[in-house]
Amino acid sequence: MNESDTSRHFLRQWIEKDVADGKTGGKVVTRFPPEPNGYIHIGHAKAVCVDFGMAELFGGECHLRLDDTNPTKESDEYAANIKKDINWLGFKWSGEGDGKEPGFYNASNMFDKMYEIAEELIRRGQAYCCNLTQDEWKEYRGVPEKPGRPSPSRETDPERNMRIFHEMRDGKYADGEWCLRAKIDMASPNIHFRDPVLYRIRHVSHYHLGDKWCVYPMYDFAHPIEDALEGVTHSMCTLEFEVHRPLYDWVVDRLDEMGLLPVRNGVKIRTQQREFARLNITYTVMSKRLLLQLVTEGHVDGWDDPRMPTVCGMRRRGYTPGAIREFCERVGVSKVESESDPALLEWCVREELNKTALRRMAVLDPVKVVIDNWQGGPRDVELPNNPLDESAGVRRIPFGGEIWIDRADFMETPEKKFFRMAPGQEVRLRGACIFKCTGCVKDESGNVAEIHGVWDVGSWGGNAADGRKIKGTIHWVDCASGVAAEVRLYDRLFTEKDPLKDGPSEFLKYLNGDSLKVVRGYVEPSLASAAPGERFQFERTGYFVCDRPLVFNRTVTLKDSYKPTA
Ligand code: ATP
Ligand code: MG
Repeated sequence: MNESDTSRHFLRQWIEKDVADGKTGGKVVTRFPPEPNGYIHIGHAKAVCVDFGMAELFGGECHLRLDDTNPTKESDEYAANIKKDINWLGFKWSGEGDGKEPGFYNASNMFDKMYEIAEELIRRGQAYCCNLTQDEWKEYRGVPEKPGRPSPSRETDPERNMRIFHEMRDGKYADGEWCLRAKIDMASPNIHFRDPVLYRIRHVSHYHLGDKWCVYPMYDFAHPIEDALEGVTHSMCTLEFEVHRPLYDWVVDRLDEMGLLPVRNGVKIRTQQREFARLNITYTVMSKRLLLQLVTEGHVDGWDDPRMPTVCGMRRRGYTPGAIREFCERVGVSKVESESDPALLEWCVREELNKTALRRMAVLDPVKVVIDNWQGGPRDVELPNNPLDESAGVRRIPFGGEIWIDRADFMETPEKKFFRMAPGQEVRLRGACIFKCTGCVKDESGNVAEIHGVWDVGSWGGNAADGRKIKGTIHWVDCASGVAAEVRLYDRLFTEKDPLKDGPSEFLKYLNGDSLKVVRGYVEPSLASAAPGERFQFERTGYFVCDRPLVFNRTVTLKDSYKPTA
């Protein structure tokens, strides 16, 4: 994150003040806590930029903590890819860590500790076991406007609670039969404060711990414990957790009473939570559950399908880490929910690739042009790799008597202001020469099969000897040396701005049936050795990334009317 004023948001000011007030013990510590139940998406990237970015800005550390407290749907495959994607975005976790890897934590490594803390709450009369059914529990909890009713178990003595809590852990009860609740305030206007559940029974195997546990802590209990015990100073999350903050503070207060808060340089570290607005993007869905559905039902080719809003999908699409970070920076940190236009992200991608991508020529909808007066073998054309960056050097491309051009660059009966190839009209063939079309040959169905013409032998390099002006310049691929390639043209995955407008069960009806078009074209010879991940500008066409040898994914088109407002 740079020093510009746009990054001087409320979170930054909040941390600045705490640093000035000496609350951090000399080190700002943040964390990014993804649940390993899917791949991270652009929304997570935003949180990554905030969590790691703030730590970087204040010379502190950011922990990567896999929040694996919910045993279902978590896996090591997800965990490994989360790490890979964060690194790719350009961030590195640091700090002590709870195992061999510095800065890396698994929340599940704290299960023993969390259980002990729960026992201590029971001992102190601050938690109790409750066996209301889910429906009863909701009914007792009530509505914000009216105090709730106490559970019949609320006044049970600690010894009995402890026995039941142990029996819960030992597998004596079925899922949902009992739970552990905090004893807080059944009359609080904040219903999250009305004796919330801390532990529940779930007879499910955990991806790391197997069947060691059949009771699992709730997020609202686990998260503040993780933050506090890791020595986190500033815990940033999305707005929906704002109403949970009193509970977060309640847990931290209890840890404080138990003497469990860490001390750094003589300062007791008391973690605090603040919330910022989620990143929402139009024309896509972001919830991992829905993304998983797209994958498992085969609507896309996997989590890294270039149409997916996942970080790995964007990587395969050819987006750069820098552009994604720039986008997150421009969206900014705010307290107000809003929707961002994917065009802003595309604009950031274009801005960066314009500066860095090597220029190449590719013809995606080829039609052959025969130069009838071409004599001798091929000649070499020399073109810059990047006109904006001299250090990128030049490349040489053979040019012979037959070339491919894009069908759209030819009109048999040209419209007004069509300055490209047309009978009787001159056009510049990029870097090579001036060409005058004399006519075309058609197939049985009336499609142009071959275009004919002559080149001005005095124009090698592209300019006329007599200095006459040539209005149009088009790109081409030499037939003899060009290479066939597959090119995937991507469009938005959904046709609707908000695919969830009719609810999550209806979003599939807004899938864009034309979001992927595969074409076969020709590319200049140097692209035969392009390696996966290499990015190019196909001149006059767009930005592309090599997916595998001779297969290219379109990252973004060359132009768009979109302009960012700030
Ligand atoms: P989803 O609802 O998409 O499945 P999640 O919030 O359940 O996401 P987690 O793995 O729990 O995903 O999130 C890890 C962190 O990323 C959390 O701190 C969360 O607040 C943040 N995060 C998730 N989605 C967004 C978003 N759209 N914008 C900003 N931050 C986000
Ligand atoms: Mg989650």
